[in-house]
Amino acid sequence: MTASSRFKVPFFLHDLGQEEIDAVAAAIRHPVLTTGETVARLEAQLAEYLGCRHVLATTSCTGALHISLLALGIGPGDEVITTPMTFIATAAAILEAGATPVFVDVEPETGNLDVGCVAAAITERTRAILPVHLYGRLCDMVALRELARQRGLHLIEDAAHCLEGRSGEVRPASLGDTACFSFYATKNITCGEGGALAVNDDALHERLRLLRLHGMTKSGAERASRGYEHWDMVLMGWKYNMSNIEAALLLPQMGRIERNLARREALAQRYEVGLAGLDGVRLFAPPAPGTRHARHLFPILVEGRLPRDGWIAALHAEGVSVMVNYRPVHLTRYFSERFGFKPGSFPVAEWIGERVISLPLYPRMSDADVDLVVEALHRIARG
Ligand SMILES: *Cc1c(COP(=O)(O)O)cnc(C)c1O
Repeated sequence: MTASSRFKVPFFLHDLGQEEIDAVAAAIRHPVLTTGETVARLEAQLAEYLGCRHVLATTSCTGALHISLLALGIGPGDEVITTPMTFIATAAAILEAGATPVFVDVEPETGNLDVGCVAAAITERTRAILPVHLYGRLCDMVALRELARQRGLHLIEDAAHCLEGRSGEVRPASLGDTACFSFYATKNITCGEGGALAVNDDALHERLRLLRLHGMTKSGAERASRGYEHWDMVLMGWKYNMSNIEAALLLPQMGRIERNLARREALAQRYEVGLAGLDGVRLFAPPAPGTRHARHLFPILVEGRLPRDGWIAALHAEGVSVMVNYRPVHLTRYFSERFGFKPGSFPVAEWIGERVISLPLYPRMSDADVDLVVEALHRIARG
């Protein structure tokens, strides 16, 4: 595989290979390309991996979040509490459902929703809390579930970074009404564009299944296998069903999830050792005892001599490709104009947003790649 890049260490390289090529070729030889038996196999494997009752594969995490809100009856006039330290999709899904996102600030040590601030943001209109397990670290789901129970709220997890994360026995979808995942191009397992949602409640699962495909009582694959049968539209749905081709691309990766996580964990620990005590570079808190970080991203916080964008330029000059996850959602032009947010609205999210840089982290990286990035950061810090 050629990485056509001016970078010595690209930000991300996928690890798809012959197994995936063979699986996609087999999917194309099969007469049913749309949502069918291959998608069902992927859903069963994801449900088994997560230890939950049902999984529905979707075209994106954004779509999964959107129909999760709709299935729980959330819409115009309702408020949903979420974090500004996330990708815009989290808040956009709330708008797509017709509801209003209400942001709450985050913890400086993790970037996750500050559970202590959530209660103060609850109003008569609040219907749900939508936490994001940022970078792969599970939020305090026990505290969030308890608060949701006390106040009669739904709990929807944006687990786009956190397929593998755990805190004790708690995993994505253990305590949320639904948990939503992304298989976007740079996520831990990927089919280019895709997603899934996990749900335990049978009735909610049935509503979500209908919402995923136009509220139709029969799917295309059912028509193909059994011959034409009349179908009905029983509710207003969307078009978020995954195809057998994407499912085929994802299935071989299910067998590598744990191995790939172990590799990312080793790379993350190598970064942590290499960067410990370096002036101008701060790390987020290490994973708490008894938890498992999904290590989707390896973010650092930079300060000192250079502003953050200066660090990025210097890393690029050293041949290291990096990203920013994230500049906070409330200060994007759309959200600030529509809702009147100003700098200072969520100071911790802004503090992270001004300092954070994501370093390369993916299983194909070598130890030497990490060392190259670490040495570059040491040179930049020395000036
Ligand atoms: C990638 C991502 C999403 C969106 O996922 P899509 O599958 O592209 O819709 C949502 N939330 C977070 C935190 C993400 O990183």
